Amino acid sequence: PIYLDHNAGAPLRAAAREAMIAALAETGNASSVHTHGRAARARLELARETVAQLCNRRARAVTFVSGATEANMTALTPVWQADGAPLYLDRLIRGATEHPSVASGGRFAVKDQTVAAVDSQGRIDLDALAHLLGQGGPALVSIMAANNETGVVQPLAEIGKLVQGHGGVFHVDAVQAAGRMAIDLDEWQADAVSLSAHKIGGPQGIGALVVRSTARVPAPLLTGGGQENWRRAGTENVAAAAGFGAAAEAALAELETTHRLSALRDRLEAGVTAICPDAVVFSGNAHRLPNTLCFAVEGLAAETALIAFDLERVSVSSGSACSSGKVSVSHVLTAMGVDEALARCALRISLGWDSGEAEVERFLEVWPAIVDRLKPEARTRAA
Ligand code: PLP
Repeated sequence: PIYLDHNAGAPLRAAAREAMIAALAETGNASSVHTHGRAARARLELARETVAQLCNRRARAVTFVSGATEANMTALTPVWQADGAPLYLDRLIRGATEHPSVASGGRFAVKDQTVAAVDSQGRIDLDALAHLLGQGGPALVSIMAANNETGVVQPLAEIGKLVQGHGGVFHVDAVQAAGRMAIDLDEWQADAVSLSAHKIGGPQGIGALVVRSTARVPAPLLTGGGQENWRRAGTENVAAAAGFGAAAEAALAELETTHRLSALRDRLEAGVTAICPDAVVFSGNAHRLPNTLCFAVEGLAAETALIAFDLERVSVSSGSACSSGKVSVSHVLTAMGVDEALARCALRISLGWDSGEAEVERFLEVWPAIVDRLKPEARTRAA
């Protein structure tokens, strides 16, 4: 079987699995002072160090949480702490194409939430954002670094400048950016970023909220014990953190070679459009992640195509896999002004650490047959 759905979740890397198995073989709570506890603590802190490096921060900036959903929920609160004093935010401004875990609004009341529009490529409309920021009190602004469906990369430095200029707090969901582009909280002027281990080849069920400064942090979501410097209560999942740390180390090293992924992605894109010249590539005219291709062929229903690919043992995705099980039209494409009929035809291919020529070739081998079967008129008439 061929796996082309890294944006939904990457296969576990061998290094992550080994780090987890080693940690699981040990006994001890990272908060205990005895030898066993200290060994668990050492593993946890080593993982914190490598996750921090992925974001070019110090270890103390990292709070381990159960995943990016929890990281987002933690950041999306109207109460932050700044230099030891409470910092109250009146409202949330979030992008129109955010993941549901941000779109849900976190701990903000519904009446205090506003949405910043995107253009036809899925980029935040900076004028609209500036206008929103100019109306009302201090805002928490939450914009994703790169979109999970289209891969479009947001103009983060420009957004950060606007947000900080209006005295707001800037949160970035960097889940899809990790390992595919540099995560730079200084350049973005981002106060916090969310990460999820399983998107970079770590285990599911762990993520992190990484802050620019420990002097500016959100009120904890989970309270109780003093774990994670009082920022997230509950006994730490040391084995998962160890896996996350190993994956982060590998993902950081791969940042040097992301052109490998963009070359494969470009081959896929060229192969798709060679067969279907009218295929629409979403965010195709914008800066995109190197690993993501989202496209549609009018009349070739994504749900049907997905099953056809699955029968050929090729795993791809239609729109957002986070909402699979229900055939609803993508809110991302809708926000970009894509009409509903075309949006229902959107397929997403996303590459990662285990993707190579063989995967691309296999996809391109089955693609013409699927088009012939489901939508022969879309096929190029060339001899
Ligand atoms: N944010 C983005 C952009 C995502 O793609 C996802 C997962 O699909 C999440 C957040 C949520 O991550 P998790 O399911 O690990 O909590």
